[in-house]
Amino acid sequence: MLQYIGEGRVYFQLANVSGNIDVSVIEQFKKYKQTNFMSREAGGILLGYLDLYSNGLLIEKCTVPCFGDKRTRFSFYRSNKHQKKAEKWWRETNEKGVSLGIWHTHPEPRPTPSSVDYADFKQVIAASAFNSGYLLSIIIGTEEFGVWMGDKNNNIQLVGYLPL
Ligand SMILES: [Zn+2]
Repeated sequence: MLQYIGEGRVYFQLANVSGNIDVSVIEQFKKYKQTNFMSREAGGILLGYLDLYSNGLLIEKCTVPCFGDKRTRFSFYRSNKHQKKAEKWWRETNEKGVSLGIWHTHPEPRPTPSSVDYADFKQVIAASAFNSGYLLSIIIGTEEFGVWMGDKNNNIQLVGYLPL
């Protein structure tokens, strides 16, 4: 389940895992929507906190495309600068801020992950020392965005779609 709650957050839940996304992050995604036929894919890392009580994933901000990324109309390669920014987030938050997943754009109205996307997400999962046991992959289409959840056993499931 994926839904807007009020004007401030987007709430998601899948089985016993839940969390929410600040709408400022969704606003950031909208800036990179591939609505123009020339626009290239964009992406980054999702940053936030783990809610210790509910084990919820709280997405507060995201990294955005930067020098070193490789962007084409149908692909996005994240440079290691994103990881550096995630480490900065961790330091700035007294080691409470964590990486909670990845995001990127697709030039299609309702995005679906490609085989490359699944492989990339699995690699991110394998490389993460995350505590909650879950990570998100968000794909921004031109009309909707989709949220997928992955666990450390590499099970990847669609949480849902919402209009942008
Ligand atoms: Zn993709």
